[in-house]
Amino acid sequence: MRILLLGSGGREHALAWKINQSVWANPLYIAPGNPGTARCGKNVSLDITDFDAIKKFCVSEKIEMIVVGPEEPLVKGLYDYFKADEELEKIYFIGPSKKGAQLEGSKAFAKAFMQRHGIPTAAYREFDASNFEEGVHYVKEHSLPVVLKADGLAAGKGVVICQTSVEAVSEFELMIQNEKFGEASRKVVVEEFLDGIELSVFVITDGKNYLLLPEAKDYKRIGEGDKGLNTGGMGAVSPVPFATPGFMYKVEERIIKPTIGGLNKEAIDYKGFLFFGLISVKGEPYVIEYNCRMGDPETEVVMPRLETDLVGLLVAATQQELDTVKLRVDERSAVTVMVVSRGYPSAYEKGFEVTGLDKSDDKDSFIFQAGTKEEDGKVVTNGGRVLCVTAYGRNIEDASEKSLDILDQIDFEGIYYRTDIGYEFKSTLLGNR
Ligand code: AMP
Repeated sequence: MRILLLGSGGREHALAWKINQSVWANPLYIAPGNPGTARCGKNVSLDITDFDAIKKFCVSEKIEMIVVGPEEPLVKGLYDYFKADEELEKIYFIGPSKKGAQLEGSKAFAKAFMQRHGIPTAAYREFDASNFEEGVHYVKEHSLPVVLKADGLAAGKGVVICQTSVEAVSEFELMIQNEKFGEASRKVVVEEFLDGIELSVFVITDGKNYLLLPEAKDYKRIGEGDKGLNTGGMGAVSPVPFATPGFMYKVEERIIKPTIGGLNKEAIDYKGFLFFGLISVKGEPYVIEYNCRMGDPETEVVMPRLETDLVGLLVAATQQELDTVKLRVDERSAVTVMVVSRGYPSAYEKGFEVTGLDKSDDKDSFIFQAGTKEEDGKVVTNGGRVLCVTAYGRNIEDASEKSLDILDQIDFEGIYYRTDIGYEFKSTLLGNR
């Protein structure tokens, strides 16, 4: 099967690595990819939001399946573009329709969807310029802390948790009146703060059936002990010790089934990955957000734990045959540690040579590249999040130690990573549940 994977981060390296293990994948193209994905297939230089260029490539290379890594092309309607085109409509498409992608592309859409289908989430109201004054009053009177969310995509920055009413009102004004997050914050969701512990749950769905992938927990803050600025993710672990069978039963019954059922009832085309950002409040699961694609860096622990052939799974999703597939999951724990450039998530420099990339054994540990590029035969840094190292272990502590051992041998100017990923689960030996 001739496959095109869109994206260029660590998530796409992990997806490419997994797709490349399938006997069905031949050839695999990654657009635009990175030096890591080039070892799993052939990188092609394409802008992933240039739909006409993607079409040209798919037609000329007789692509049979397209897998979309990041959300942007999905939110912009790549699925609908394919389905409306005679030459593209038969290509197996992994990713939701534009409407389905609204689960991530519009917080207000996602909240209303959850409300329609009785899915547990924080209480909320939405506001824009038309009911701005009412919004100011609502925000002022809201219990604290209060959560303000830009409705649209804001590169992961559109959520502000306010500790005082003064801060909340000023933030609310900045978002709506000053368009702090551009068009994304013309509409704002104001919601109740939920106090609990977060985890990421993933399914692959064919729009009717779904299969639960291994769950994961990511670590968003830059500093050890979850201190400092928010980032795109500094590491992840899987499995998550508190995601017990009892907890996951509640997640499936109260959240996943009503979500898939809701998509089906509303005739929303959705064949692909669906990511549930959840929070456990005293053992009860609530939805914080939906994402219409896999998470990064969670994919870098989820894919290594998935034993089932990924291409077979994706074909079954496009054929609405996921009910005939059974997933096999590696019982071991997996931990990934993200390596970033000094200064990230604020300003950082690029272009430093990365050494030690041959240090993983490709059996129990893997290096997934993200912000890298090749220059004169060398791999150099090309982003804030440079690469991540995933390792398996008997439990989270063991996997984390192995990952850090590999990291000891990797270097570039300004290298930084957290050494405490999975800290709250270490020495509990609960990693294997
Ligand atoms: P989101 O982009 O919706 O995932 O929000 C980013 C982060 O803000 C989440 O990962 C949570 O840590 C936090 N957050 C969002 N909504 C809430 C909420 N209602 N209560 C507590 N924390 C929240």
